[in-house]
Amino acid sequence: MKPSKIVVCGGGGFIGGHLVADLLRQGNQVRSVDVKPFEEWFQMFPESENLQLDLREKESCERAVADVDLVYDLAADMGGMGFIENNKALCMLSVLINTRMLMATKGAGANRYFYASSACVYATDKQTDPDVTALKEEDAYPAMPEDGYGWEKLFSERMCRHFREDFGITTRVARYHNVYGPHGTYDGGREKAPAAICRKVIEAKLSGKHEIEIWGDGKQTRSFQWIDDCVKGTQMIMNGDYAEPLNLGSSELVTINQLVDLAEDIAGLKLKRRYNLSAPKGVNGRNSDNTLIRKIYNWEPSTRLRDGLERTYRWIHDQMISAKTLQSVS
Ligand code: NAD
Repeated sequence: MKPSKIVVCGGGGFIGGHLVADLLRQGNQVRSVDVKPFEEWFQMFPESENLQLDLREKESCERAVADVDLVYDLAADMGGMGFIENNKALCMLSVLINTRMLMATKGAGANRYFYASSACVYATDKQTDPDVTALKEEDAYPAMPEDGYGWEKLFSERMCRHFREDFGITTRVARYHNVYGPHGTYDGGREKAPAAICRKVIEAKLSGKHEIEIWGDGKQTRSFQWIDDCVKGTQMIMNGDYAEPLNLGSSELVTINQLVDLAEDIAGLKLKRRYNLSAPKGVNGRNSDNTLIRKIYNWEPSTRLRDGLERTYRWIHDQMISAKTLQSVS
């Protein structure tokens, strides 16, 4: 494919950082934008143009999209279940980013706009049973998404649709199901289940205190998508012809207990499990139905959880060891 000028919004974040890396590898000219100070970006590349901008501001959005062909909008104030259940207003304020970004894209005339939506748009009453029926794209309606975060995502999806229909902007939307991998957050309150569980298992191993706290009863089910699959699928959806929201997730369903089993197996230990039933745990069961993405692109995310989790575990382990070493030196 011909190299393009591309902006990645949220490029200092987890998925954005990996996307920037992959777009650069393909020879594209990339601008990476994030509100965080540079030292907090998960990944930064000297070959990209790196800008610290607050994309809730009109001028920042105009600066971000100036002279680009493609706009990837992955910027959002978000985190794992612990964050989104306790920060609904902050999550909803991301609507400012997506509104301003779409308006700036309309003014600048970029060719395509990608929006990172979420499986949290799906109606909660279809996710009450851990023994799930995987979610199809049509299950987002009638609407009853995750309060706060999910409503914002669903609203922004609709905005993409109407900017496409009314203003002729080519918009694409992926509904990400839990993404995991290295170069993301694993502590501090915004981390998601795979990173949190790796961190807890590593802490138990390093401290010799062989127990682990699990949020909920551990029987809730989820699927987890390896970051490289997410980056590949994101570009496929951006560059493809299908304009409606598409699931982008793994369909390998596991319970949280099975996720802990895998992390224990990688670490080579067994932990005593304590279940915190009052902690945020999200819906009881969720999986991605990949019928549509298979039909359209003849592809679906398929990296085995065991393989991706091992690489994630090793990365978090190395980060924790170097943080410990730094602490003991200072
Ligand atoms: P992330 O938090 O690592 O990245 C988001 C980035 O957006 C952060 O670096 C943050 O600083 C930046 N940002 C926030 N407010 C901003 C602003 N006002 N201006 C500029 N930048 C701003 O999250 P992620 O996991 O990389 O997620 C990327 C996108 O994918 C988000 O839209 C998220 O909602 C969506 N998503 C992620 C997952 C997942 O499992 N990681 C699942 C579903 C949807």
